[in-house]
Amino acid sequence: MFLGLGLILTLLITSVFHTHLVNVEAEKDRKVLDGVVVVLDAGHGGKDDGARCENEKEQDINLSIVKKLQKQLQTKGAEVILTRDGKYDLASANASNRKREDMKKRMEIINADKVDVFLSVHLNSYPNTSVHGAQAFYQKGNAVSETFAKLIQKHFKVLTQTKMSAKPGDYYLLNNAKKIGSLVECGFLSNPEDRSNLKSPSYQEKVAQCLCDSIVEYFDFLL
Ligand SMILES: [Zn+2]
Repeated sequence: MFLGLGLILTLLITSVFHTHLVNVEAEKDRKVLDGVVVVLDAGHGGKDDGARCENEKEQDINLSIVKKLQKQLQTKGAEVILTRDGKYDLASANASNRKREDMKKRMEIINADKVDVFLSVHLNSYPNTSVHGAQAFYQKGNAVSETFAKLIQKHFKVLTQTKMSAKPGDYYLLNNAKKIGSLVECGFLSNPEDRSNLKSPSYQEKVAQCLCDSIVEYFDFLL
């Protein structure tokens, strides 16, 4: 009798303990960006290089940063959609206005139902070559987009020692986005120090880390 009861108790305790262990395992496997869908838009592409300085082309560096950020976000559990993953634009072969068709297709990818957040990655250029630093832009009049851009700018400030602040941006993608996002100018190709940093893979990884951390903080903020 006692032996029987002891056995039942042992079995019960074992099963409770096992269930707990399984839950702990499930919790441990849960990643901070599980279920989050992010669109990463590497600015320009194809015949449109964007900014150019010496041998550096904005379209190439944008794509390198985006691919590094894609890996970082996937490690944290996010589903990542790229608007482009090579040196091409999104317009059809015989498009009458390549730029317009390209931008329209990028906008459709960003505004797809399942998308939670987007980043359009660019580099800046300015005639005065002493101007440097990275800056995040948000959709004018959208307080959530502004919050997101300010989170990014906080990380950019630490990385680039810039005094720039997040600003509303008059860009096609920001003006027409139905999703929360930011357009980021990760530095000035026209500035020698920024250019030297931006072409280095290790610095690109740091820029990507700023953006990845900002996305994680943004979803923390929403909870
Ligand atoms: Zn650009």
